[in-house]
Amino acid sequence: DERVQTICDAIRVIPDFPKPGIQFQDVTTILLDPTAFKHTIDLLVERYQGQKVDVVAGFEARGLIFGAPLAVALGCAFVPLRKPGKLPGATLSEEYVTEYSTDRIEMHVGAVQAGQRVVLVDDLIATGGTLRAGLDLVKKAGGDVVEAAAVIDLGLGGRQKLPEDLPLFVIVEKQ
Ligand code: IMP
Repeated sequence: DERVQTICDAIRVIPDFPKPGIQFQDVTTILLDPTAFKHTIDLLVERYQGQKVDVVAGFEARGLIFGAPLAVALGCAFVPLRKPGKLPGATLSEEYVTEYSTDRIEMHVGAVQAGQRVVLVDDLIATGGTLRAGLDLVKKAGGDVVEAAAVIDLGLGGRQKLPEDLPLFVIVEKQ
């Protein structure tokens, strides 16, 4: 698909951010290019259109940018998965270990209901820890994660951290 190359070309790489040695994949340059941004959303929509999806859940911060337009296009609910202390209502939370620290994501109680079919969306998969936490959080609410989607997979073993039977949809494989 030619659209994938357009999206790939629109990603800026920033060396040594946020720490020396890290090649940060900057997706804000996708957003500056209306064609690349539209292609990204279109590819996600094409993947899930006509499937039974009740909820798109997007990770703060950049999973919100790609997840919300997908939910609008599918005509389903959108649920933000947020960093600690941001959501005003009662929350469910899940801790996870990152490269540097222990982190936590939160979701509003009642945002995902038992039996609902959920697609997780983030901008990028590195170790897979974030997606894993999202999966466990949705499970806590009784929801069923049917697939996880990301714009970029860095190929750092994220897939191995996820259950084998969880399908992953990735637009750009950056090894
Ligand atoms: P993981 O939990 O190790 O898979 O890391 C993925 C999370 O870290 C996602 O929420 C990403 O937004 C963020 N992240 C890690 N590295 C990058 C990067 O190079 N560009 C953009 N986001 C990144």
